[in-house]
Amino acid sequence: MTPRVAMLVDDPTLARSPFGEHHPFRAERGAVTRTLLEATGALRPDDVAPVERVDERLLGAVHDAAYLDAVVRAGRGEHVDDPRGFGLDTSDCPIVDGMHRVALRVADASVSAAELVASGQALRALHLTGGMHHAHRARASGFCLVNDLALAIEHLTRRKGWRVAYIDLDAHHGDGVQAAFWERGDVLTLSMHQSGRTLFPGTGAEDEIGAGAGLGTSVNLPLDPFTDDAGAVAAFDALVPDVVASFGPDVIVLQAGVDAHWRDPLARLALTGDGLDALFARVIDLSERWCGGRMVVTGGGGYDAWRSVPRAWARLWGHLARRELPDDLPEAWRASWAERLGATLPATLGERDRPALDPSVTGRAASHALAVARRVSQRFALLARDAD
Ligand SMILES: [Zn+2]
Repeated sequence: MTPRVAMLVDDPTLARSPFGEHHPFRAERGAVTRTLLEATGALRPDDVAPVERVDERLLGAVHDAAYLDAVVRAGRGEHVDDPRGFGLDTSDCPIVDGMHRVALRVADASVSAAELVASGQALRALHLTGGMHHAHRARASGFCLVNDLALAIEHLTRRKGWRVAYIDLDAHHGDGVQAAFWERGDVLTLSMHQSGRTLFPGTGAEDEIGAGAGLGTSVNLPLDPFTDDAGAVAAFDALVPDVVASFGPDVIVLQAGVDAHWRDPLARLALTGDGLDALFARVIDLSERWCGGRMVVTGGGGYDAWRSVPRAWARLWGHLARRELPDDLPEAWRASWAERLGATLPATLGERDRPALDPSVTGRAASHALAVARRVSQRFALLARDAD
């Protein structure tokens, strides 16, 4: 069977936001992006794959049963002892009717994406509503209830025995995924993010390197606020290609959160759509070079929801599926969402505006990023040599 180049896992149930419409996490971003891709002809009906149910045993490998039970009971409006002990009933993860169904559906879709790649149906699979990288084994955190990424990675390792390189470009540290594979030598987790000194969740320092069999396979690249395109790309180039080459993955799992965009209201990095695009293209190149092009990709953060996010993710799909997108975005697409969302959607794929930042500030952040990347790269090389 010749695999399709790329497939999108999606259905209408994934456009529901788990915590309601007054919460910053807006699941409709996926539908806004999908309709944009359809309107431009970059996504065809047979590119879309359905959502399958996750095996319960897989859920049990990633989350504690008592925690899953608490999420389900809370989502059904039933009593839960000490919900705060599970990270529930907080401002980030309030208890909302039906939230468990949404969270489990997101997990189903990311595992479905992993299965498309594992089974050879698709070289690359994308699930835009996934990317819940803060969910821990027994604790909800940062808008995340069920760690769909950890489930997808676990599925790839169990189903195929593959070595998995997880790359997380979200502005926030991928703490839940790192914790899930902290002691695993067969899963590399690499997170590039705004430093935990200045941003939630506070972790992801460069000296977090894993333990036991996983010593050296947790890799962190913390960035200062106002790191821009040039700074982020140079730091990526100084670290990520060597780490991926040394690890030798069979597949790359990418968390493609886009809250590193300068317009994002929740983080303070200064990338543009072009910078995000350059990073995505580099990850795809690495997959071509080291694992036959195999990739499982999810969305993630991105809270400039109707302006930066659909453009960045549309461009990502263009790379994954090798399809061209026009720069002028369809008027009918803009009009339909403007009415539903009460928001103005962008007229062009390319961004015309740039952040107005003092070059001395972005220059300092870029130098810092490069210095961190080089230190982390050297330490990784030493640990990899010791492990041989
Ligand atoms: Zn984020």
